[in-house]
Amino acid sequence: MNPIFQYPCFNYAGLNTPTPYYIVDRALLRRNMRIIKDVQERSGCKILLAMKAFSTWGVFDEIVPYVAGVATSSVNEALLGQEHFKLNNKTDPKTIHVYSPAYSMEEMITLCKIADHIVFNSLAQWKMFRGVVENAGRKIEIGLRINPEYSEVSQEIYNPCTTRSRFGVRLEGLMDAGSNALDGIDGFHFHTMCQQGSDVLQRTLEVVCERFEKYFDQIKWINFGGGHHITRMGYDINRLCRIITAFREKYGLDVILEPGETHVIHTGFLVSTVLDVIENPNGIDVVILDTSAAAHMPDILEMPYTPEILGARRNVEDCDAPLEEGRFKYIIGSKTCLSGDIIGEYMFPMPLKIGDRLTLEDMSQYTTCKNTTFNGIQLPSIVSCDSETEDGSFCVHRQFGYEDFRNRLS
Ligand SMILES: *Cc1c(COP(=O)(O)O)cnc(C)c1O
Repeated sequence: MNPIFQYPCFNYAGLNTPTPYYIVDRALLRRNMRIIKDVQERSGCKILLAMKAFSTWGVFDEIVPYVAGVATSSVNEALLGQEHFKLNNKTDPKTIHVYSPAYSMEEMITLCKIADHIVFNSLAQWKMFRGVVENAGRKIEIGLRINPEYSEVSQEIYNPCTTRSRFGVRLEGLMDAGSNALDGIDGFHFHTMCQQGSDVLQRTLEVVCERFEKYFDQIKWINFGGGHHITRMGYDINRLCRIITAFREKYGLDVILEPGETHVIHTGFLVSTVLDVIENPNGIDVVILDTSAAAHMPDILEMPYTPEILGARRNVEDCDAPLEEGRFKYIIGSKTCLSGDIIGEYMFPMPLKIGDRLTLEDMSQYTTCKNTTFNGIQLPSIVSCDSETEDGSFCVHRQFGYEDFRNRLS
């Protein structure tokens, strides 16, 4: 098991603003960014931010200097990436990369004005849009997503290489397309990992090379996708750098990585208030928070997983701490009417009471850009702080209200 990440002694719940709020700690972001910078310098690869995982642009200024660009998957993400990584950063503009399982003509026309790299999911899509791209009047690098048919991701919902997968061209498809299949294509892209180590990359790369090596002399670069958990405690960074360096030297290809969550793991929290404590004579008492797993932390139900809560202990069997430590056991539940909207079961060192604030850990990735107003529930505010400054540098970036709920409907 990985060592537990130690957060700074800082009161993220101490802000005098209504809950719920997401709070990103800039000091923790800088910690990750130093690692991202180091990997690029040592291995010679380029690392992008996959905006699907984190688009909280109020703190992008901490990320922009340390990455080569952004990996986007839609016109909207590409526009937001362009604004922050290019237009607001004219002295050192970064590159905008886009990949989508399929593009419409309308999207392609817009993307040709924004994107520096466009990755296609199929040869048919490339054929369809080749004319548009070549008439764009600017140089756009073209990539093709390949499907190596190898992934070590066990949850089906996150596995891009099942037999039913819609992602990328399989070797067979490329061979069937004949000797000119890669005409006009500059690079390959594969994405097969999820929260994994460099050992998984190593094994994946062996399969990719075994299958697609014969095409490498026709391309200039290869994008190893996301899912690399580089900044996690215990990740073998030395091995990652060795793999990339050896690959670059052997094939002479530029290497790009586009992880999302690794940039922001252990940088954010969701602060929430206890609205009620319900005694349950048949079992464990239940706490209702002013937040929701379904609406504000959907991966809790989707992965599924149980997040850590500062000062509490998840009531799970693989926990190292002795049981006596936290004696007050609760089911922490959400404020929506969905029965399964439960955050998890926890042990607390003292009884919880109405008005207590709970700080849920590791809430930067796949939260703010995935949340909804399901049940009309209040969207959490977006806050940043800096635990390395004297006063904490709290900043409330945005609070949401009735208009935000209403304007998504008609
Ligand atoms: C989701 C995704 C990423 C980012 O994945 P993380 O697990 O957040 O690192 C990168 N590239 C593609 C194509 C993706 O779909």
